[in-house]
Amino acid sequence: MRSENIIIITTDGLRWQEVFRGIDTAIANNKNFNEGDSVYLFKKYWSNDQSERRKKLLSFFWTTIAGKGQLYGNRSYGNKVNNANPYWFSYPGYSEIMTGYADTAINANDYPPNPHVTVLEFLNRQPKLKGRVVAFGAWNAFDRILNEQRSGIPVISAFDGIGGNNPTANQKLINKMLADSYKPWLTDECLDVFTHHGAFEELKTKKPRVLYIAYGETDEWAHSGQYRSYLDAAHQVDAWIKQIWDVVQSDPQYRDKTTLFITTDHGRGDKIKTEWTSHGSSIKDAYEMWFAVLGPDTPAEGEMKTHVQLYQKQFAQTIAKLMGYTYKAKHPVAEEIKTVIK
Ligand SMILES: [Zn+2]
Repeated sequence: MRSENIIIITTDGLRWQEVFRGIDTAIANNKNFNEGDSVYLFKKYWSNDQSERRKKLLSFFWTTIAGKGQLYGNRSYGNKVNNANPYWFSYPGYSEIMTGYADTAINANDYPPNPHVTVLEFLNRQPKLKGRVVAFGAWNAFDRILNEQRSGIPVISAFDGIGGNNPTANQKLINKMLADSYKPWLTDECLDVFTHHGAFEELKTKKPRVLYIAYGETDEWAHSGQYRSYLDAAHQVDAWIKQIWDVVQSDPQYRDKTTLFITTDHGRGDKIKTEWTSHGSSIKDAYEMWFAVLGPDTPAEGEMKTHVQLYQKQFAQTIAKLMGYTYKAKHPVAEEIKTVIK
């Protein structure tokens, strides 16, 4: 493997429909969802051409990743990625990503600290990676999902300050702004901008080998039926991923030695164009999801069009293999996705 570093990025509950098709006009035209401004939405994200349309929403995905990496989950081609867990909400989804296992006992967002050793904890136990693994998450549940206490991996979530006892000037300012910021989700979750810039400072100053960044706004705005904010949040995450990739490709530790693995924890509904706001086992098709990979060990095949059924539980071993390890744990671990790795 040429990958010596990996950056895992999730954006909560972003649908494959928007990833592969761009803005959904039925939702954008619905006055319950467009926040009174469909003109803005169409001006910013509409094109008659579907490949242009999705590029307007996710420009880095559909230029750089489509050119040099892989994107999975376009069900129009029978390229299917599913939750293996039967719940289709957040904690079970993130646990499935990080443990390679759909443990049906993990069935609530307030589930206690994860009993399983995640792939992040496994990587942090490897001598070469010890102390070089860190996670940033907008949602405070990541402390439990990644079992911060047992794993010893720093998990900077929600309103946690960054920079420890020695914050840089940037970190001090981020901490102040975070404390003073608008808190639409009280203390459970911060706005993505703080999670991003906290992680971005860490990337530049501490140069972790394994970095996990978990954005949350795509899910929050969808739950509140705010399609404009949902699309803008996705568009912003795409721009931040480009920012991360630009730093990666200009730094000797990272350049051509770093994989980006980007995905989500679950899908959302679609069927009657009102279910898009929601997910969970009562919402049809909310197990449908996607992922994207960009890095030196991944063949540049762009949008994957092969008929295949893949599962979220395969991500953990794929991440381990990209880093040159075989993830072993006391629980069953699903096998890696072989087409991701040269
Ligand atoms: Zn979620």
